[in-house]
Amino acid sequence: MDNKIRVFATCDIGEAIDLLRKRGYEVEVYPRPEAPPKSLIIDKVGSGIDGLITTLRDPIDAEVFEAGKGTLKVVAQIAVGFDNINRADANRYKIPFTHTADVLTEATAEFAFFMMGALARKMWTAEHLTRDNQWGYWHPYLPFLGDEVTGKTLAVIGTGRIGLAMIKKSVGFDMNVLCYDPAYENQAFVRTIQEVNELRHSRGLSKEKVSIRYVPFEEALDGADFVSVHVPLLRAEDSATPTYHLFNEKTLRLMRPTAYLINTSRGPVVDEKALARALRENWIAGAALDVYEKEPLPSDSPLRDPAIADRCRLFPHFASAARITRLSTDPDKGMAGRCAQGLIDVLEGNYGGDVAQMPYVVNKEAFK
Ligand code: NAD
Repeated sequence: MDNKIRVFATCDIGEAIDLLRKRGYEVEVYPRPEAPPKSLIIDKVGSGIDGLITTLRDPIDAEVFEAGKGTLKVVAQIAVGFDNINRADANRYKIPFTHTADVLTEATAEFAFFMMGALARKMWTAEHLTRDNQWGYWHPYLPFLGDEVTGKTLAVIGTGRIGLAMIKKSVGFDMNVLCYDPAYENQAFVRTIQEVNELRHSRGLSKEKVSIRYVPFEEALDGADFVSVHVPLLRAEDSATPTYHLFNEKTLRLMRPTAYLINTSRGPVVDEKALARALRENWIAGAALDVYEKEPLPSDSPLRDPAIADRCRLFPHFASAARITRLSTDPDKGMAGRCAQGLIDVLEGNYGGDVAQMPYVVNKEAFK
């Protein structure tokens, strides 16, 4: 038996696979576009692979780690979110797992921003009008109008990497911003944005003075025209401030009837049944979603109700789906490159073999 490093990837991550092969790794890639069954992942891990490349579609828990006992050294996830990986199990088995934070921040935030615009300005409905030959006249308000984004108030729920990038993009649209984050308030960032806002106003680039501040959750929902969600999926057992069903009947009712919800975080952060009802009964003006409680979105989802189609935009977990962001082999630019580098760091013992020093490892606490 040779001593080649062996890796199994549950999906193709493009040229980054060649990069690993050029280093002498033996890499097997699951050839189909959908996720492999968990039993196959367990078989591959049980066959003695050193590294496993995963996506958010693969459930990684004690069963997988047990199969890799003594051989599996790293799980490299191509995503920033890692709610599919059981962190406590990884720690118990002392398996580091890596993710691809930062490189998808701007792409995800810009997609959230574009979703917000497409929803509020009714771009999908307007294009349908044209394509379906229903555009019969120009009229001041018929057949419908949209709402402007410029000058409105944006609530950013979760001011981590993507939430802050969303705020940066809102500056050019003269938006007031209400921030909410129970874990950390980045007041230095808020001051910087305020300085930029003041400069724009004093130099005549924006007509109205705008503001940015941290507020409690309820105040953010109550005061916003747009609510954009940028939290990790945290269940009650993971956090004192869980995000599972953070948006439910009670909290959706706190939003204004003219307000819009944008979710690019994780599907289970929003109770979809409650949201469908909120849209049907006009508690809120609309929602744009990139992520769902179950993915792909089931054909019988209440979100597909034709009665709400004009105010409910649905995207296929697409926010990071841009060419460079997804596939660049440069670990400072692409998820594929960062995923491969995370794997290499662990398997080749970079950083003096100190896992706690490796930048893309998530569960450092298990190695300190
Ligand atoms: P991050 O860890 O930098 O930021 C998350 C922020 O949420 C943190 O500041 C945290 O304190 C805050 N938070 C935690 N609990 C909260 C709560 N109860 N209420 C409000 N805020 C809370 O993560 P990030 O890089 O900004 O990514 C955020 C999430 O976006 C990821 O976890 C992932 O699930 C999702 N994501 C989706 C896509 C997509 O394609 N749709 C792409 C990238 C990321």
